[in-house]
Amino acid sequence: MNIREIEITYKCCVCGEDISVNLETIGEAVYCDKKIYHSDCFAEMAEKRAKSKNKKISDKWKFILADIGKVRKESYIYFKNRLYKAAVCQFIEDNYYIKVIPRSIHIRLGDIYNGSYIRLPRGIPPSHILDMWERKRDFLNRVYENNISKGKCMDVYERILYDLGVLANSYDSYLKWREKQKKISAEMKNNPQKQNTEIYKFMESLSPESTDISQKHFDMSALADEIFDG
Ligand SMILES: [Zn+2]
Repeated sequence: MNIREIEITYKCCVCGEDISVNLETIGEAVYCDKKIYHSDCFAEMAEKRAKSKNKKISDKWKFILADIGKVRKESYIYFKNRLYKAAVCQFIEDNYYIKVIPRSIHIRLGDIYNGSYIRLPRGIPPSHILDMWERKRDFLNRVYENNISKGKCMDVYERILYDLGVLANSYDSYLKWREKQKKISAEMKNNPQKQNTEIYKFMESLSPESTDISQKHFDMSALADEIFDG
């Protein structure tokens, strides 16, 4: 799954034209008050409304303009999450060979994203779900085969819910693992001579550009074993 290939088209609330949002063009769109705008259209509209004779309107938009950084940040998070949610759906369709994702799975995904899924202390961002799912694909396949061999059969939709449960339950371990990667990465920056060491090779195997998929999965399988043994 290449997140860069995901694009969502919206209609601008000011000019009515399409806005195509992908990871590269996120900055060109604004999400404010549950509406979506071209960045330029939004700026123009906000300036105009801040000068409105209606005090209520001008106050509201002056307030928004005074903290435009917040609008930008919230917009970025909103669109990024939307793109990753779409990518997760695409991943499910591709990985489990289904054409339509049933409502039960959309509901479960929503619960996991917003943290209302059973025993989840907090929501899991769609980008983390996608990353975990991709990294643990082989592991989940092995779990499934193991279940089948024990006579525990499930249809594809039950399996997706099952796999999602496994991912949600391993989120803490995933966060720890990410933390560890960050430390290794920082260590490498401070010690460039270490680049020829095993650490460097390890990091290489984890980089998204890496083509050595087997290595990547090997590392995550080790993590997964840790989770399921623990
Ligand atoms: Zn527009």
